[in-house]
Amino acid sequence: MSHAEVERKAALVTGSTSGIGLGIARALAAAGYNVTLNGFGDAGAIAALARELADANGVLVRYDGADLSEASACAGLVEAAVGAFGRLDVLVNNAGIQHVSPIEDFPPEKWDSIIALNLSAPFHTIRAAMGGMKTRRYGRIINIASAHAHVASPFKSAYVAAKHGVLGLTKTVALEGAQFNVRCNAISPGYVLTPLVENQIPDTMAARGLTREQVINDVLLAAQPTKQFVRIEDVAALALFLTTPAADQINGASLSVDGGWTAQ
Ligand code: NAD
Repeated sequence: MSHAEVERKAALVTGSTSGIGLGIARALAAAGYNVTLNGFGDAGAIAALARELADANGVLVRYDGADLSEASACAGLVEAAVGAFGRLDVLVNNAGIQHVSPIEDFPPEKWDSIIALNLSAPFHTIRAAMGGMKTRRYGRIINIASAHAHVASPFKSAYVAAKHGVLGLTKTVALEGAQFNVRCNAISPGYVLTPLVENQIPDTMAARGLTREQVINDVLLAAQPTKQFVRIEDVAALALFLTTPAADQINGASLSVDGGWTAQ
């Protein structure tokens, strides 16, 4: 790596092969960050994506396919990202999964995997990143929570529990990093039409006996007063803002981007 490349800030975005994470990775690369991508998907498509982001922005983009449902893989992901770019300035915990089912039928293994990825993985990545950030006196940690970090919906016991937990983790880390110029905040989106939401439409149709249109209008957007999906770009722009000096005093917050859902 050249001197100029080590001078660049570096970001790690978990679950950035798709949806919101990819949008955030795009925004950070466009802002001049070297970026580590993570998540699942077709190897060729991911390699092409990494090349596209690097070429378009003149930054380095690497991919690490760590499965973050494994605790040790979370630490390994952070260590490899720090090793590759010589620093880690921004950590975005975004990888997440969902399962929709009445609690009496909720498979315990789905509970375990949702808690592992949506709640425990952010703990493990932050745990691995925090020491270096404190030593360097700089770190911006952004946890992608959800409106479901503030309110519940039926049939999402594991997801709602995990996302509520993410807010507690966010606040705790914010306090621990406060005097080391390490900030930790959550972004809590309402419904964004990504594969995660697309994939839960059939389950919700089955769980509630509804058509696709009924699920979109009467279940998903029923709670969202604007009656519009949040755009990936809206979430990415807020994440980028949290990395700017104007956001230096935002710490331990959950910033809602939900069209007014949790105002009700
Ligand atoms: P998505 O399904 O489009 O993307 C999820 C990403 O996580 C993918 O890159 C996937 O490969 C990756 N991933 C899945 N399992 C993984 C694992 N074990 N290890 C590493 N990576 C893994 O989902 P999305 O809608 O973009 O969701 C991203 C985040 O935003 C999630 O935390 C989700 O809970 C949150 N969120 C989404 C919405 C929404 O409406 N889409 C709303 C609020 C919050």
